[in-house]
Amino acid sequence: MTDTAALFEQTAAHDIPAEHPLSRSEGVRIDATLALLPPGVETALDVGCGPGTLLHRLPVPRAYGTDLGWRGLRNVQRPAVRSSILRLPFADASVDLVTCCEVLEHLPPADVAAAVAELCRVARRAVLVTVPYREQLLESSHRCPRCGTEFHLHGHQQSLDEASILPLFPVDARLTVQRVWKVRPYSPALLRLRTRGLGLWKHGRHTLCPSCGNTEFENHEGRLLYKLFGALNHLRHPRRSQDNWLLVRADLAGGEP
Ligand SMILES: [Zn+2]
Repeated sequence: MTDTAALFEQTAAHDIPAEHPLSRSEGVRIDATLALLPPGVETALDVGCGPGTLLHRLPVPRAYGTDLGWRGLRNVQRPAVRSSILRLPFADASVDLVTCCEVLEHLPPADVAAAVAELCRVARRAVLVTVPYREQLLESSHRCPRCGTEFHLHGHQQSLDEASILPLFPVDARLTVQRVWKVRPYSPALLRLRTRGLGLWKHGRHTLCPSCGNTEFENHEGRLLYKLFGALNHLRHPRRSQDNWLLVRADLAGGEP
């Protein structure tokens, strides 16, 4: 089981109804994703659909979901199957559109190219991928007090951008790229000092150590020193200047309606 599968199967991270209220950042991302859909799509497959947050909102007559985890699929109200992104149980070019949102960053880096190839295999017209843009992984990481393992709270295994994503699509695909939503960057030196230096880590509600299975974590965010680092970083970065989401739509050659 991958770290991410364990996180979503063994914690309540995906125990949410698909119609849960979206955060502003999520709302902006999902609106931008829906605005990027090609017109006239009749069939879609949402890969890594989780509890169906995007799948339920796809304005497509026949939309299906797939996810590696059972726990999110229990909340999905459209047809969905459990599968790995690396072996989708769908024929070549069998759906108009394949979406895959906030999934690739969870994969082992060596699997990302094969995953994108699998998305492109199943899609007839277009593939739409969204990922966190140049995420500072350390900002959402924690160190297990029991075994010392440092890990990302949401199981992200890599930070992605255009250079890492765009070359994975077929050379004859037509690519549309967007970046949406701004966040405040964290100065790397301040972040390293707060985390690895002083042992003050971001808190997650569904934290699971991928090495030892520990789920008992203290919340450091209320500590004065943690807040002081936030204030210092705010002084260094008064503006939200860092793009937060990368959206890529690949229109596949020969896939016009
Ligand atoms: Zn541990």
